[in-house]
Amino acid sequence: MKRNTWQREAVRGALGASEGFVSAQGLHATLHATGSPIGLATVYRALADLAADGSADSLQSPEGESLYRACSTNDHHHHLICRNCGLTVEIEADAVETWAKNVASEHGFTEAAHVVDVFGLCATCAASAASAG
Ligand SMILES: [Zn+2]
Ligand SMILES: [Zn+2]
Ligand SMILES: [Zn+2]
Repeated sequence: MKRNTWQREAVRGALGASEGFVSAQGLHATLHATGSPIGLATVYRALADLAADGSADSLQSPEGESLYRACSTNDHHHHLICRNCGLTVEIEADAVETWAKNVASEHGFTEAAHVVDVFGLCATCAASAASAG
C-alpha cells in the first residue's frame, strides 16, 4: 500500500483543514480546486483507511451519505452536528455510555459499541433562519 501514501497524506491534510464533517465528493472537489490530480475512488479508499485506523471519524448523515472528519481525539466521543453549516461539536455523553452498557448487558451482550451523533441546527443557523422568516 506504499504507493498510495501521498494520496492518503493529501486526503488527511484536506480533511484536517475542513470545518466539520465532509463527504468524499466534497473533499475530492476541495483537492481538485487546489490542483491535486487525485481520483474520487482514491479519496473514498483513503477516507475508509483513515476511519479504519482511527485517524478520522465517520458517520452517516440523515440522508445516508458517509461523512468524515479528522477528530481532535481518538478517544470515544460523540458529535453534535449542524445540518445546515456543518458545525461540529465533540461531546462526551456519560449518560449514553451507561445506558448502552446497561441495555446490552440486560440482553446478554458483551463488547457492545455504539455510534451516537446528534444532528440539528446550531444557534447561528437557527437565528438566521428565524430572521429570514
Ligand atoms: Zn469526533
Ligand atoms: Zn449551523
Ligand atoms: Zn458513547
